[in-house]
Amino acid sequence: MSSQNEYDVIIIGSGPAGCTAAIYTSRAGLRTLVMGGVTPGGQLMKTTLVENFPGFSNGIRGPDLMMEMMKQAEGFGAEIIYRNATRVDFSSHPLKVFADDEEYSALSVIIATGAKPKMLGLESEQRLMGRGVSTCATCDAPLYKGAKNLVVVGGGDSAAEYALFCAKIAERVTMIHRRDRLRASRILQDRLFSEPKIMILWSSIVEDIIGEDRVEGVLVRNLVNGELSRIDCEAVFIAIGHKPETEIFRGWLEMDDEGYIITRDFVKTSIEGVFAAGEVMDKRYRQAITSAGFGCMAALEAIKYVEMIRGSK
Ligand code: NAP
Repeated sequence: MSSQNEYDVIIIGSGPAGCTAAIYTSRAGLRTLVMGGVTPGGQLMKTTLVENFPGFSNGIRGPDLMMEMMKQAEGFGAEIIYRNATRVDFSSHPLKVFADDEEYSALSVIIATGAKPKMLGLESEQRLMGRGVSTCATCDAPLYKGAKNLVVVGGGDSAAEYALFCAKIAERVTMIHRRDRLRASRILQDRLFSEPKIMILWSSIVEDIIGEDRVEGVLVRNLVNGELSRIDCEAVFIAIGHKPETEIFRGWLEMDDEGYIITRDFVKTSIEGVFAAGEVMDKRYRQAITSAGFGCMAALEAIKYVEMIRGSK
């Protein structure tokens, strides 16, 4: 490994948690590498207007916010590479992180890999992914401008946002939710209920997605009366929550049943010098601002840890 690849801190992930951590560690003078992934910026890259990030009274586009955060980190000297971390070795210090065959090492590692969209688990969903099935309405719904019907699956904030966004594009939107009550916040529910283009199918699940080469409809089971019905649509947007991106840390770090990294003292993992921030450890709040806050905490801990190691040498 070349000494070029030796860092004080490696941050894995470049969403709000990773970028905030990078701003703090690089500003504190630590040699910082951000492994930003092949699609950097995290989930905000898939949103349109972010209205609840403090400091932007008119809102800010998610991708713009992330580009600014990355630029801010780079401005303080953080290096951002657009590669995925594919393996780690936390058996000894310095800690090792690999991107394919390339090895990087650091005194401290901050994990901010976030979470990825959950899927329904249908064969048709995989086959028709990108052909009408999508997990990002804000990215893909504009492809279906003027559609007769777009389906959104889920009952949380994401599903509500997707349905409202789709209503600007299509003649009709059908939201399919497995319960008789939404999980989405009150403000989004109010907007949903006052949008006449959106119809909600309560207590219903998607049993299959119909279509050979492109989505033509969905088969929906009503969980109350057991009835199965077909709903024609041009696209299906799945918004049923997220799963933490922790596969490469399995066996190294303590995790809960769902794969979230377990932390103590806010951001400390089960290995000294390894910290976790954002949706990879927080399944409760999951907001850009809370992820940024955890990123800040992880960075402050990493700075303290690196200073302690340097002082002991
Ligand atoms: P979420 O809050 O976990 O909601 C997931 C939804 O999908 C729930 O309604 C859930 O149903 C349903 N679901 C889960 N598994 C399912 C399955 N296998 N089949 C069918 N339905 C299923 O996820 P989210 O909406 O992505 O939101 C994640 C976090 O981001 C939340 O904290 C949210 O507040 C935040 N967020 C905020 C904003 C905003 O503030 N503007 C926007 C987007 C997201 P049940 O309700 O029955 O569990």
